[in-house]
Amino acid sequence: MVQAYNSTQETSARQILVLPPEEARKIAAGEVIDRPAALVRELLDNAIDAKSTLIEVAIEEGGSRRIEVIDDGVGMTYEDLSLCWHTHATSKIRSMDDLDRAKTLGFRGEALAAAAAVAHLEILTSVDGREAWHLTVGPGDATEPQLEQVRRVRGTSVRALGIFDTIPVRKRFLRRDWSEGNLCKQAFIDKALAFPNIKFSFTQDGKLKLFLPNASNLKERFAALLVKRIEAPFLHEINVTGTGFSVTIVLGGPALSRNDRRQQYVFANGRRIQEYSLLQALEYGVQGWFPNNAHPVGAIYVNINPALADFNIHPAKREVRFADAGAIHHAVTQGIRDFVHHLNLSAGKQWLMPEAAYTQTEPPPVPEGPAPWLEAEDTSPEQDASWEFGGQPDWAKPLVHSPSPKAADLALEALAESTLPQEVAETSPAYAVRYVGRAFGLFILVEHGDKLFVIDQHAAHERILFDELLSKPIPTQELLVAIPFVTECEEDDRFIAQHQADLARLGVIIKADNGTWRIEALPVAWRLGDTATIKEILNLKTAGENLAEHWAATLICHHAIKEGDYLDESTALALGEAALKLAVPRCPHGRPIWYEINRETLFKAVRRI
Ligand code: ADP
Ligand code: MG
Repeated sequence: MVQAYNSTQETSARQILVLPPEEARKIAAGEVIDRPAALVRELLDNAIDAKSTLIEVAIEEGGSRRIEVIDDGVGMTYEDLSLCWHTHATSKIRSMDDLDRAKTLGFRGEALAAAAAVAHLEILTSVDGREAWHLTVGPGDATEPQLEQVRRVRGTSVRALGIFDTIPVRKRFLRRDWSEGNLCKQAFIDKALAFPNIKFSFTQDGKLKLFLPNASNLKERFAALLVKRIEAPFLHEINVTGTGFSVTIVLGGPALSRNDRRQQYVFANGRRIQEYSLLQALEYGVQGWFPNNAHPVGAIYVNINPALADFNIHPAKREVRFADAGAIHHAVTQGIRDFVHHLNLSAGKQWLMPEAAYTQTEPPPVPEGPAPWLEAEDTSPEQDASWEFGGQPDWAKPLVHSPSPKAADLALEALAESTLPQEVAETSPAYAVRYVGRAFGLFILVEHGDKLFVIDQHAAHERILFDELLSKPIPTQELLVAIPFVTECEEDDRFIAQHQADLARLGVIIKADNGTWRIEALPVAWRLGDTATIKEILNLKTAGENLAEHWAATLICHHAIKEGDYLDESTALALGEAALKLAVPRCPHGRPIWYEINRETLFKAVRRI
């Protein structure tokens, strides 16, 4: 007994063992690369740090079978390649002090080492497009790194195979392939959003999923990745600066609002971070501009002097500590508010002035306590201070459109001609929408199933026209008398000359005539005077690539049924039915089109249930 006891004691007395290097490496690697998406992120960081202009990502089976990132960056020499996969091997900093100046995404020299610990890694690289080297390394203790000379154009390809194959505990915790694949794709999107001037592609299981050409700015890249083409004109870019930092905010107007905050992003020096207080700053900034409970889509890109931020507090750099977070928060909220203020003041762009174009009687809501998704207590001074106003802020004051009978007639014509989707007539018996009546000169009331829908006739018609206009060529009508005009500057001449064909597709035929211009045809039912017409056309200069969307919005402004316009029963029913079938039941400015009340609520209200 005693003997046995002693022997147990002997082994259990020594509880601490220094792990063999290979085990230690695998465990440390787990902090950096906890799943395939983390490796995608790290390899993208490296390609971006290498000043690439084109980066191609390919994954297979959610990334766990293969992740490959190919770039055209600076490449590595033979010496660097033989070192790069060692722990703490980096070309980016030389000491901790360098973190204050580091402009690169990486700096810890851990990613490739971690990759080699959890996967079979191959790197093919060349600095000059002549001499190229190929490295094969890991995982497992036995594998000796191998280097051989090969061919490659300038740049680097990194390929990781069989991720976690040698670490069963980790592999077991991976989700299904499609789920891991989505995380990889999100990691890709997070990077692509922050580097618009790099071309990117993403291929999944042999299929090209995303190809992103160079974008000229953050807004354009955001649009390419996250919003539909017809939504792009409702994105704005706002720039603000402060001491040691600048912020670019890409923000969707109310037309793009969402019911949740999933399409909101925060970046700091090119890294996506989880920074709830800045998301909150975004929400504060748009208060009063957006309908209640609608959330903006957008991204906040903070560019900060590295000395004023600590990126070294999270293994995956998903968090950052700002020296003065309050200043950034304030700049974001204020920047958005100033922007909205100017948006509403600037004339001639009604379609960009969502709330101002309509009577707004309710003041914007005063925020009540921290948002539910905020875990930490909010200490922002914004909360109470800025929204104690005696009345509405300037930009929230109404700017009412007066109804015009002439416009209404044309609008009804247009509605009868073109806006009722074919399927509505064919399927309406099955769809069973019953006309109930009209109310307050604005609403159409229809019954459908066990619900009563109160539909805003103007908003509904706007959306229907907008979708319709963008779905096919705009019908055009030759003018009996052409409109001759001269522009005020060469820039306008250039714009017209360059876009003659585009404008023709939008129903506007303009011909050059001996140093002047002549408008020979305009969209059917166009009704503006000559001067206003010319002005609207030249206004398209600001539309960039979204000419069609801006033009559609302009046409809608003048054609949609307004508040107060009379609708007969069959037109009202047709409009109501078409409205209920809309894929996006919001007007192009983002306001909801209807309000619904269900039968049960009404019955309860009169105590019948
Ligand atoms: P870090 O990025 O923190 O320096 P990594 O382990 O990610 O650490 O990379 C180690 C080093 O390998 C980098 O510092 C860089 O010099 C080199 N390297 C990695 N990927 C590439 C690449 N795609 N192009 C050129 N050099 C690279
Ligand atoms: Mg790196």
